[in-house]
Amino acid sequence: MEYFFLDKKPKEECGIFGISNDINAANLTALGLHALQHRGQDSTGIVTTDKSNFFAHRGMGQVSEVFSNPSLLDTLKGTMSIGHNRYGTTGESALKNVQPLFSELNIGGIAIAHNGNLTNTHKLKEKLIQTGSIFQSTSDTEVILHLLSTASGNLLERLTYALNSINGAYSLLLMTKDKLIGVRDPFGIRPLVLGKYKDSFVLSSESCGLDIIGAELIRDIEPGEIIVIKDKKIESIKPFKKTQLRPCLFEYIYFSRPDSIFEGRNVYDVRKKIGRQLANENKSDKNKIDVVIPIPDSGNASALGYSEKINKPFEFGIIRNHYTGRTFIQESNSIRHLSVKLKHNPNISSLKNKNIALIDDSIVRGTTSIKIVEMLRNCGVKKIHMRIASPPVKFPCYYGIDTPTKEELLASKFSIKDIQKYIGVDSLNFISLDGVYKALGHNNGRDKNRPEFTDHYFSGDYPVELVDQKSGSFPSQLSLLIEAKK
Ligand code: 5GP
Ligand code: MG
Repeated sequence: MEYFFLDKKPKEECGIFGISNDINAANLTALGLHALQHRGQDSTGIVTTDKSNFFAHRGMGQVSEVFSNPSLLDTLKGTMSIGHNRYGTTGESALKNVQPLFSELNIGGIAIAHNGNLTNTHKLKEKLIQTGSIFQSTSDTEVILHLLSTASGNLLERLTYALNSINGAYSLLLMTKDKLIGVRDPFGIRPLVLGKYKDSFVLSSESCGLDIIGAELIRDIEPGEIIVIKDKKIESIKPFKKTQLRPCLFEYIYFSRPDSIFEGRNVYDVRKKIGRQLANENKSDKNKIDVVIPIPDSGNASALGYSEKINKPFEFGIIRNHYTGRTFIQESNSIRHLSVKLKHNPNISSLKNKNIALIDDSIVRGTTSIKIVEMLRNCGVKKIHMRIASPPVKFPCYYGIDTPTKEELLASKFSIKDIQKYIGVDSLNFISLDGVYKALGHNNGRDKNRPEFTDHYFSGDYPVELVDQKSGSFPSQLSLLIEAKK
């Protein structure tokens, strides 16, 4: 076996699912993870417990690959289970970063699954390493295990200590022999919902994870809330002094599945309303456009709203091949370019000689747009008016969405006119940030003093302190040992 080193920090932008009390816990978790597959396709894992032992299976790839042998799920015994889909954005597809992580503490075994990104991991890690902690991975999540291990008291006291030590965005699932615990960070940046299935409580990143097993959505976990489920009882604890709900606006724009309900709003509905607002902000479009074409699937719902509003037909002018992963997930730029061709093909009859409105949810690096536009030009489209259902992404996200460093973000370097030229479209407009808030029901747009969401990638307003980023110890100096595939 060969080894090589990589100095990049892994990000965790993932899907998590847990169930408290069902004889089919592992199978139900696999189903939940399958519904959450869009949140991460890099690796997946499930840990179960039968109240005395823990059982785990983790692997690289999607749920259907990692659990391709159905008898594997039968080996995951017990009635309680947590699972995780990981979204790896850098090159480090290391098996040791695959979650749920498991650790034997002096208060018993504990498994943990994390969606989000911490912003003071390096600072904490330095301290922990000085006092003797030995890290097995570069995942943020392992820091939480070390904090639990070095704290004193019972599990809840240790968890409170750990949560008060970490900064950042996190939704967490923890599982001991007899408890299933869910946590959402004090701003509720990443999603986590509570559901009910027969005699079980269910925790899932999104409500679509509940739908697949027929569980009922109870509510979103509140910001800074710890939910402890033991037997059939459920308890809510709020250890933080100050919390304010600032869920991630990008969940509505891109990340969540359209059929999910996030913080009381159906994601598909919101996207359609954003599309309508995009049309409101481009009043003269109805005179320029023959047909509205989404970049599938991320542009579909907003294109539909936009097309209804300007009263022009919506057509699938680009057909997506569903048997490839998301383009973003590819690791090097050259592959990313190739994968756009793998994923999309023009449907010439609805494009030829047409003036089109081309709708996508966002532009990050511009890779998707550039390839699609070139493809459309090659099949005789007349004019391309690109309309984007989110404002320009100008600021990196450190809370778990893959919007990279400032240098890689087109809109942080270039004006909209320059981006238009670079992408090769006849016109380019982004929805305003106020417009997005209007689509969400805020008649006056974004309230600067108390915005309902975190929208730092558009506004630069970061609600959680960026400790590592400010101290310059980011990205990590620590290397990651990667086991090459045999
Ligand atoms: P670009 O090609 O400009 O780099 O990225 C924009 C495309 O990537 C859009 O079609 C959008 O749907 C998708 N996208 C935007 N944000 C994210 C993200 O955080 N993760 C992934 N996988 N895709 C994203
Ligand atoms: Mg897309």
